[in-house]
Amino acid sequence: MQEYITIGKEKVPAPGLGTYQLTGKEGEKSISFAISIGYRHIDTAQFYRNEEVVGNTVKNSGIARKDFFITTKIWPTDFTKKNFVPAVEQSLKKLKSDYVDLLLLHWPADEAANALGTDLLLECHEKGYARLIGVSNFTIAQLEKARKKAPVFCNQIEYHPYINQHEMVKYTQKHELLLTAYTPLARGKVNTDPTLIALGKKYGKTATQIALKWFLQQKNVCPIPKGGNEKHLIENMQVFDFEISKEDMQTIFNLSA
Ligand code: NAP
Repeated sequence: MQEYITIGKEKVPAPGLGTYQLTGKEGEKSISFAISIGYRHIDTAQFYRNEEVVGNTVKNSGIARKDFFITTKIWPTDFTKKNFVPAVEQSLKKLKSDYVDLLLLHWPADEAANALGTDLLLECHEKGYARLIGVSNFTIAQLEKARKKAPVFCNQIEYHPYINQHEMVKYTQKHELLLTAYTPLARGKVNTDPTLIALGKKYGKTATQIALKWFLQQKNVCPIPKGGNEKHLIENMQVFDFEISKEDMQTIFNLSA
């Protein structure tokens, strides 16, 4: 069962599914399994070279496109008038969809390219190619500039219990933005963390489930764990039948203090 983060009139399914390195037949199998157990938020990027796999899997699922929340990202070398819109059109073709739910600038470039990239995001939004637009790996200062030019919905950043993102979390919460947490499991490291294992024992959950719940109890924060393994994909969804106490939330925040 998937839950949703509500921001204005938007409902973002959480957790999302990270798909970096989910490619080819194996990738299709994992994504298809994830959809079958309820994942509806799928994170891809041009850089991952798997938009076609995502598009095929979503199409073949038989589930209505409107029930998915699909994000893709454009690489900084395409933040040009000549390249940007055609790059997005290429993504849509591969994703077999007329639109993406969220279109992101994958990484910041220099100030002029970020400004142009933001204008081009807006152009894609106005063309109907992207329901929502946003950025990834932007600092607060870069985000402020982008927000002056366009209705930015999201910043996707690296965030897990070993990275202190307090200022960015506070900023996105204050401005009602989505903060998508990438590499939320520190590439699997959280699963062997002694503090998280101890908390897992207390709540009858795994260390990974504790980490995922910690994100979900932070307003507007959506983790997108990657899972190729079916057991992992199931486990990462079973995080809605318990709640971490305020004190234990703080213990997890202290891991990055
Ligand atoms: P991650 O989600 O932190 O970790 C993935 C690793 O954790 C995989 O090895 C996975 O194994 C393992 N894992 C998953 N569930 C587990 C569980 N329940 N127990 C134990 N291990 C588990 O790393 P990530 O792929 O770097 O980040 C997630 C997503 O964020 C990416 O896939 C991508 O969509 C996005 N991302 C975005 C950016 C950006 O610049 N915007 C950068 C990096 C990543 P299996 O695969 O074997 O299940």
